[in-house]
Amino acid sequence: MCYTIIMKNTQFLRSTKIVATLGPSSNTENKIKKLIFAGVNVFRLNFSHGSHEDHLSTINIIRRIETKLKLQLGILADLQGPKFRIGKVEDNVKLKVNDLFILDQDKKIGSRKRAYLGHNEIYKSIKINSIILIDDGKIKLKVLSKKKDILKTKVLVGGKLSSNKGVNFPNLILDTKPITAKDRNDLNFILENEIDWIALSFVQKVDDVKYVKKIIKNKKPLISKIEKPSALNDLDQIIELSDGIMVARGDLGVELPPSNVPGIQKNIIMACRVLGKPVIVATQMLESMINTPVPTRAEASDVATAVFDGADAVMLSAETAVGQYPVDTVNTMSNILEATEMHIKLHPHDSPRALKKENSIYHAVSNAAVNLAETVNAKAIVAFTASGKTAFRISRERPDLLLIVMTPENIVRRKLSLLWGARSFLSKVQGYEAAIKEARQTIKINKLAKVNENIIVVAGMPFGIEGTTNSIRVVTI
Ligand code: PGA
Ligand code: MN
Repeated sequence: MCYTIIMKNTQFLRSTKIVATLGPSSNTENKIKKLIFAGVNVFRLNFSHGSHEDHLSTINIIRRIETKLKLQLGILADLQGPKFRIGKVEDNVKLKVNDLFILDQDKKIGSRKRAYLGHNEIYKSIKINSIILIDDGKIKLKVLSKKKDILKTKVLVGGKLSSNKGVNFPNLILDTKPITAKDRNDLNFILENEIDWIALSFVQKVDDVKYVKKIIKNKKPLISKIEKPSALNDLDQIIELSDGIMVARGDLGVELPPSNVPGIQKNIIMACRVLGKPVIVATQMLESMINTPVPTRAEASDVATAVFDGADAVMLSAETAVGQYPVDTVNTMSNILEATEMHIKLHPHDSPRALKKENSIYHAVSNAAVNLAETVNAKAIVAFTASGKTAFRISRERPDLLLIVMTPENIVRRKLSLLWGARSFLSKVQGYEAAIKEARQTIKINKLAKVNENIIVVAGMPFGIEGTTNSIRVVTI
């Protein structure tokens, strides 16, 4: 039996998880291995870039290393979603304040007078006075008038305009399908391959999540990216229907003033914890490390804030995908997480806020287990769970002890790699007494508690049947 932690590395010691995006700076076997040793728990494949062939080769590399190291890692596939872009424009185009500028459906190369913007649905939904942002909000236009395929705009904030830049329409619910033809094709690929989580970009409303869930048919868990202000109106329903959430601060901070993002981040994280769904804080966490081997102090604070807020995971994008220091960045992030978690241990009043009690057996059992663990000063909670659901419930309490998850499927372990605090082992044990014995063994072999110290075992009776988590036992080692 293989219950020993082969690599007693940083992944195991820390509760907050790291998601790292792979790209040209990092998608080789050698780099991926280094990133794992530095502490990555989940790799993100960004479907805005790369072919299926590229992604497949990356997936195969990750799974190969995983088998060699006897680890379980998560892979998250991030769909591009309905991201709008202008067409090609001539070199050196600069827009000045108060210029008139036209967006139309004419594919010929753009100039300082006009540019191509496809997507009929925009022309349908947009209104006079609507704001259009180009290139992450660097250029700002206001719509003066519209026709079937022409928008006449005034430049409110000017700047350099270059080809294929992204376009945002803040506060506008666009009559778009939640996924494009490309996303649909990507989804087919994702569903057929060893990917653990799917992320959906630009969710505008709860119906978008419903639409995509119908296609996925519960084959894989879905993360909704919150990056449109309109999604905030449906937030609780979106969280309820999704399996996880990403606070996608990049686009969110384009569509809303960046000054609103920190408060929104706190609200989203809390709402996710209440509903027991994992939440990732994403974008610009260590942005300066794309080009510099040390973080700014403000970035260190930002990563720490995600921990204080109670996020499950923090994410790296360009830092690891195209940056010069992918491995140093993960090391830095891991160090900040560990230092912040240590601070919380020493100063418990800085822990994420406690949750209100909730009337459900799952919750009551998890809450009681955590309370009991704290009262008897237990070193670990060992949870036996077939689906992983019990782990989600215990994790949402953010307990100050090890959360060891015993589950019969590696696929569940891969999914749990995103979850705050979850450290998992494969266990095919059957029967309650055998489970208690195995919990004791696992803890002993891995030296997670000393003789005479307590652990708490959480399981369901009858054993091994989903949805029966109802028993808690204190076990003295
Ligand atoms: P992206 O999403 O990197 O796919 O744009 C994250 C964000 O917008 O923050
Ligand atoms: Mn985005």
